[in-house]
Parts: sequence; structure tokens; C-alpha cells
Amino acid sequence: MLMEWKLRIKEATKIRKVEQYIVGTVFIILLVAGWYFPLIGYFIPLCMIAGVGMATIRGRQWCNWYCPRGSFADTYLKLISPGKIIPRVLKSNPVRIAVLVFLMTMLTFQIVRLWPDGFAIGGFFVILLTITTVVGLLLSLIYHQRSWCYICPIGSLSSWVGKNKHQLMMNNEACISCKACSKTCPMQLAPVDMKEAKEMQYKGDCLKCGLCVATCPKDALSF
Ligand code: SF4
Ligand code: SF4
Repeated sequence: MLMEWKLRIKEATKIRKVEQYIVGTVFIILLVAGWYFPLIGYFIPLCMIAGVGMATIRGRQWCNWYCPRGSFADTYLKLISPGKIIPRVLKSNPVRIAVLVFLMTMLTFQIVRLWPDGFAIGGFFVILLTITTVVGLLLSLIYHQRSWCYICPIGSLSSWVGKNKHQLMMNNEACISCKACSKTCPMQLAPVDMKEAKEMQYKGDCLKCGLCVATCPKDALSF
């Protein structure tokens, strides 16, 4: 039984790591190539449509490993991050809304200014991606590799749109409050809180990665 449980955790972690390694490496290639081929920058709006679109059915699952920057964070930034607690202020709606409005306003302004030069607009997407990646890198160095994910516009929109989709559920009777689920969560969420509270705080930011489900020794969690 113990062996089976350990194998299950190993398998869930391994598959996710491979997926994230591939997509995270593609992210680096796209970011560098974007400076030479500006049209590559259009993968950003495509990611936005895909991420928010997916959120309408599966919550924030896009950010687990489909998102190139999310995978880059878990694969590469994790290696240099101290893994500290992500400040609550980054998770607060006023800050998330402010970042979203600021970036969207800047984006709209630049698109209008550069229109109809498709290359220049693509180039601006690359600049925006580079700047926000540097911010994400700095936040990783100070706090945690997934800090940026709390203020990322795609992440925030997906979190709000998909808050109640594909929800993590707990069997309260089975849970023994060991907190193994909370320790394994890449977004620093606390599934264990569902035992006492009605719902998990920041539940819209659950990536549906399933690591907590695989880690729970009592099979108390499911989707
Ligand atoms: S709560 Fe569970 S499924 Fe959601 S992100 Fe954390 S570990 Fe993954
Ligand atoms: S890992 Fe399972 S048993 Fe342990 S606290 Fe989480 S839900 Fe409860």
C-alpha cells in the first residue's frame, strides 16, 4: 500500500516535470527568437485566448504546464528561487486588477500607435514578454518561482473566470490533517483548510495539477 502510494506520487510528479521541461524550454527559445522574428510575439495573445478559454471549463489548468512561462517558472526559476512565502499583497484583487489594467492599457495604446505595422506590434509583444519575465525573475529571486503567476493578467483572468470550474473536493471524514497536500502545492495553496472552512482560500488559483490528490495518503482529495 505504501509502495503504491509512493509510486503514485512519483508518477504524477514525473509526468508533470517532463511536460514542464519541454514547454519551459520552448518558452526560452520563443523569447530569444522573438527578438529576431517579431511575429513570434503573437503567441502571447494566443496564450491569453487559450488560457482564459480553457478556464471557462477547467479553471486555471492552463497555468499548470500548458503556459510556457508557468512551465519555465517551475522548471528553471525554481532552481534559483528561495521558495519563500508569496506575499498576500500579490494575491489581493486590487493589486491584480491594477497590474491587469496597467498592462492592458499600455498594450492597447501601443497597438493603436503602431497600427497597421504587424511586425512592430509583434515586436512590442516580445518587449512586453521580456519585461514581465524579468519582473517574474526578480520576484522568483526574492520570494517564489510562482509569485508572478498571482499578478499575471492571463492568470488573474483565468482565476476569476474559472473559480468554480473543475473544483478540488475533500472528503472531510478521510482527512487526517497531515498537511502533506499543502506542502506539495506549487501555488502555496492549502487544500487542508477545506476540512474546516467551506472552501479553500484563493481556490481560483488552483492549477488542477493533481499533486495534492496524488500526495494525500488517505485519498481524501479529488476533482
Ligand atoms: S491545490 Fe492541489 S491541484 Fe491545486 S494547485 Fe495546489 S497541488 Fe495542484
Ligand atoms: S494530504 Fe490528505 S489527509 Fe493530509 S491534510 Fe491533505 S487532505 Fe488531509
